[in-house]
Parts: sequence; structure tokens; C-alpha cells
Amino acid sequence: MTLDLDILPLSSWMPETPYPLLISGPCSLETEEQSLSTARELAKDKRVHVIRGGVWKPRTRPGSFEGIGSIGLEWLRMIREETGLMMGTEVANAHHAEECLKADIDVLWIGARSTTSPFVIQEIADVLKGSDKVVMVKNPMNPDLSLWMGALERLNAMGLKKLVAIHRGFSPFQETKYRNYPGWKTYIELRRSMPNLPIICDPSHIAGKREFVGEISQKAFDMGFDGLMIESHIDPSCALSDAAQQFTPSDLAKLIDRLVIRKQTFEDKEYGNKLDQLRSRIDVLDTELMELLSARTEIVDQIALYKKTNNVMALQIDRWSQMMNMRLNTAEKLKLNETFIKILFQLIHEDSVRQQTEYIDNLEK
Ligand code: PEP
Ligand code: MN
Repeated sequence: MTLDLDILPLSSWMPETPYPLLISGPCSLETEEQSLSTARELAKDKRVHVIRGGVWKPRTRPGSFEGIGSIGLEWLRMIREETGLMMGTEVANAHHAEECLKADIDVLWIGARSTTSPFVIQEIADVLKGSDKVVMVKNPMNPDLSLWMGALERLNAMGLKKLVAIHRGFSPFQETKYRNYPGWKTYIELRRSMPNLPIICDPSHIAGKREFVGEISQKAFDMGFDGLMIESHIDPSCALSDAAQQFTPSDLAKLIDRLVIRKQTFEDKEYGNKLDQLRSRIDVLDTELMELLSARTEIVDQIALYKKTNNVMALQIDRWSQMMNMRLNTAEKLKLNETFIKILFQLIHEDSVRQQTEYIDNLEK
């Protein structure tokens, strides 16, 4: 399903620069001095378009710094006044949205925890109704595309047209080197579902650690994101939230220098021919893969029948563990990614068990 919301392109409100939309600034605004000095340094880098700063902080556990509150909005106004840049903050309820309208904040973003709640989104959308603010919506904590799209639809229905989605990864269901699981698949689905929606990436909250922010930012550009939101702090070691993932403004500039921005496509005949050739080889291989899968399902039917004749269960855990070990050994020899092969065979096996039970059900009818 594709949804063409009534959304304005980034170019309609973003200051004109050749660089993709770049938002940076502290995780949390802490003091006037910290806020202004960070912004001043960032403004020297002409690639930064918007200064961010959280003033109401959603903390997972109580007892840590929960944000400076509305006074921070004044500091954001001072930042805009001094640097001429747009600025923005996170809103998590109707009261925050009202405060931001009063203080004339340029960009309001909705955090991952809030996107999970349609009540909260509707409350915020009702307050912002008819305003021309830029509103950005982070993905919900869990990879639920409908919740993410639903939030954008609710805002759009209230007349908000300067909408942007922010991909910040998902709560990890298993240990990874990153703080949040990137789950690029959900981003790709959002791109397909809302083709005219600008989508940026927040590599800071995916990474959780400075050392991984660069690789995720590059990946984001390789996958066609329209921009980045990266946290920065004049002195990250003293930050009151997310200290491990923030950059000094000068380290941020070095990181941006290293990023390569890809072209969407390349109108060159030779490039086009070569790419077409490679793609047709992929098409042939994919067809062969599916023919192999089809041959496999025929054998699965035979197994189902044989088990049924001998009154044996469809699911055989020992065989399944042995099979997975064998497949992972083969994957290693063929230099295939272990996680990919694991997920692939989990799917194949799950479908094989489904097929066997359905086959037996049908025989018994
Ligand atoms: C943030 O941007 O500082 C933040 C709290 O992000 P998220 O909602 O992605 O956790
Ligand atoms: Mn943060």
C-alpha cells in the first residue's frame, strides 16, 4: 500500500545548501552557556542546518536528569537569534507542544516512546492543528510500521505538511554492538509506503557509542536517507545524558568530512548497461533459488506422507538442531553471513513444518 500524504518537500523550508539536512546539538540542553557555546561552534560548520536540544527528557528509569524544562526554549530562541539557524526540541505531550508554539520553536520532534502511543500523538496533533511548524516523527521503539505511519497520518490530517520521519532504530531483542537495533527493513518499507515523505537517520541513538556513529551515518547515505540528526556537546564527557554517543562540534565536522554522499542514480550509458547486465544475472539466480525451493517443497510433502504413514510428528527438534548446525558450517565455508543464514533457515524450516501439518490435515479431511 502506498500513501501519498500532502507533504511539502524539504526544499520548501530547508535553507539552501548542497548538503543533505543535517541536525545537530546536545542530547539535552543543560545550561545557557553549554547550549550557546555548542550552537556557536556548530554554526561555524556551514553544513549544519538545524540546532537540536532536548529540554524535556524521556528517561527510561527515574532519578536521572529529566531536562531543564521550558527555560531551555528561551536558550533555543537565543541560538536562533545569534546563529540564524533553525532550532528544535522534542515534544512528548500537549503541554510541551503548547509551550513550543508559544516560544515559536521551529522544529518539533516526537520521540520514539511517544510514537508508540496514538493517544499522545493525537493530543499533540490537536494542539499543532493548522500551524506551519516542521514536525519530525521518530520511529516507535518496536518495529511497527503502522504505528509510525499512523502518527504521520494523524499530524497530516491536522494540516501539518512539513513532516519528516526520523529512523532511530528499535529496542534490541538480542545483544548487538549497537544501543538500538538498526532494522533497516522498516525504513525501506516506510520509503515504499510513503514515497514523498522525507526520512532522515539518527545514527547517534542507533549507535549509542561515538565509535559507531560514522559507519551508521555512511550506511544511511548509502541507503538514500535525506539527512542526519547527530548529537553533539561542547564537552561530551560532562554531558548529563547520552555522554557516550555525543561529539564535540569539531569531531563532528571531521566525521562529516569523511562521509560520502551517493548519487541517486547515474545517467551514463555504460554505467546503465553494466548495471542492467548485473541485474539480469541476479534475476536468473533468484529464479533458480525459487526453483530449488519449489523442488524442496515436493520432498517436504513426501516426508510428511512418510511420517504420517508411520504416525510420527511433523516437528523433530533433534533433526532441526542438527540441520541448523550443518547449514551454519556450510555458511562459514561459503563465507555467508551467519545471522542471515540463521534467519533464512528458520523461515524455511518454519514453512516446512507448516506445509507438513497442512498436508496431513488435508489428507485427514
Ligand atoms: C533524543 O533524541 O534525545 C531521544 C530521547 O531520542 P529517542 O526518542 O530516539 O530515544
Ligand atoms: Mn539522546
